[in-house]
This record gives sequence, C-alpha cells and structure tokens, in this order.
Amino acid sequence: MRVVVTGGAGFLGSHLCDALVGRGDTVVCVDDLSTGQVENIAHLRAEPRFRFVETDVSRSLDVAGRVDAIAHLASPASPVDYHRMPLETLAVGSRGTEHCLELARDRSARFVLASTSEVYGDPLVHPQHEGYHGNVNPTGPRSVYDEAKRFAEALTTAYARSCGVDAGIVRIFNTFGPRMRPHDGRVVSSFVDQALRGEPLTIYGDGSQTRSFCYVDDLVRGLVAMLDSAEPGPVNLGNPEERTVAELARLVLALTGSSAPVVHLPLPVEDPARRRPVVDRARERLGWTPEVSTEEGLRRTITWFAARATAPAALAGA
Ligand code: UDP
Repeated sequence: MRVVVTGGAGFLGSHLCDALVGRGDTVVCVDDLSTGQVENIAHLRAEPRFRFVETDVSRSLDVAGRVDAIAHLASPASPVDYHRMPLETLAVGSRGTEHCLELARDRSARFVLASTSEVYGDPLVHPQHEGYHGNVNPTGPRSVYDEAKRFAEALTTAYARSCGVDAGIVRIFNTFGPRMRPHDGRVVSSFVDQALRGEPLTIYGDGSQTRSFCYVDDLVRGLVAMLDSAEPGPVNLGNPEERTVAELARLVLALTGSSAPVVHLPLPVEDPARRRPVVDRARERLGWTPEVSTEEGLRRTITWFAARATAPAALAGA
C-alpha cells in the first residue's frame, strides 16, 4: 500500500510510519513539526519507501500519485499543547480533516481518523463504550480539542455516507511509550522524566482521578488493523487497565528506583475524573486486544527515557 500518515513525525505517527515501512508499505509522512519532531523519523529518511513532506494539512494537502490509505493523526494531543495552540487545534480537526477526506475521495483511498477518548469528555458512563455520546462542555477549557475531534468524527461520517468514502474512526485512549516528549505535559512522560531526574512528581489534585494506559506498540497494531479493514467504527483503542494517577506515580517511582518526592498541584479545570475503554468492539471487529501490560510498557519507556537522558546528543540539547 501507499499510505499517507498525517502527523507522521509525532509520537504515535512516527511509530505508525515504522510499522508500515517495516511491513513493506510505502509511506508519505506529512507533518508541520508544530509538535512533531524530525528526530522521530530521522532513522527513516534514508529509506526509499519513505518520504517526508513538511506541510500544515489545515492549509492544504497535495500528494501526487497513487494513495491507497490515509491515516489522519495530525493534531496537538497533549492538553499543554492544545491550550497553547487552540486555533490550530480547531483548524486541523476541521479544515485539516476535510483536506484529508477530499484526498481520500479523489483517490478512492481508505481513510482512518485518529479520534480520541476525549469525545466522551468527563464521562457519566463508566467504562466508556462506543455507544456513549459523552459529556463535553463546548465552551470549556478542553473544548478546542474535544470539539475539534467530535467535528472531525461528524465530517468523516458525512463523507462516508454522502460521498462513499471508505472511512473509519478510532477513538484513542491514553497511550505512552518511547518518543513522547519529556516536557509535553502528559502524565506518563512527566512522571518518568521527573523520577529519573530526582525531581518531585507533580500530581494534579489528590491523584484519585483515573486513566487507562496503553503501550504504543499495541496501539499501532490497532491502527494498522483499522487501516487494513473496511470497518467504519467508531472503535475504541486502549488498554482497559485502569489506575489512579497516584498509583501511577507510585509505580513509576518503584520501577525507576527513584526516591523523588511527590507534590500536589491544583487539578486542571474539568479534568475528567475517570476513564477506561470498553474494547469489545475492537476485539470482535478487528481481532485486536492490547498485549503489553502497563507495567511492562512503563519498563520499556523508562529504559528509553533513561538512555536518552544520558546520550551525548541529548545532553547537548539536540
Ligand atoms: N496529570 C498529573 N500530573 C502531571 C500531568 C498530568 O497529575 O504532571 C494528570 C492530569 O490531571 C490527568 C491525568 O494525569 O488527570 C492524565 O493527564 P494527561 O495530560 O496525560 O492526559 P489526559 O488528561 O488528556 O487524559
């Protein structure tokens, strides 16, 4: 297949590029590098079946030649990033998604939208199944991301219904692993970075809020299965192992052997109280289940962060 991956230099996108190139696909990686990083794809640049195009899909998406599939991952995804780039987040969810869908329509390509568990907002139903319509505040602090993705889901569905685009939607729950930026503000990267430096782990609120953490390799297998299928979704992708943030902090401290303290900082406004995916649909329709436990995933992530922290290039600020 010849696959366009938007957001291909980002955390998830670069792992998806690796998986596709690794199985023999040709990949056109599109990224504006606003949150993606060239170093995530540096090892692929010499690969003849890999091409990088630096562009903002909110403005346009022009890819010459055959396109068999498009995975639309481009978007700021960390709360810190989408608060910093609210208009860009809304633009890539709306105009960016439209440009991708137009390309899919033009080339009769499979289209997969990377949506999010944030469409469930601060959920009143627990755990979250795909039939739940969510509890999102349209003018709340997280709305730029949540509503952008909800609009992207509506647009994708409209293109499928009215234009016959072969489109599918995945809703991605919290995912972690190598290539997360240490300062992107998300909880796993923050805790691992803090623990390795011996700095206080910053627990927001009392730490009783929950999340369910999926290792990146599992998530990418789910994305590839969705690209290969004709499944419209929406399909939840995530690991149902649910933990409080305080438990996660204790686990990271134990696995790093760090004696760093924890500090409690104010809980962000409208921070969802709990989140856990129901993944029955992914199992039934894609044959997908997560295989890497959160603990094992954390071990691998800690190894990567530790190696990076001691690498000469990292010390030089590269
Ligand atoms: N969180 C925390 N300390 C941090 C970063 C995040 O306690 O340094 C909390 C945050 O308030 C939320 C959870 O961890 O309850 C997950 O946050 P993240 O930004 O990783 O993902 P999201 O909120 O989008 O699920």
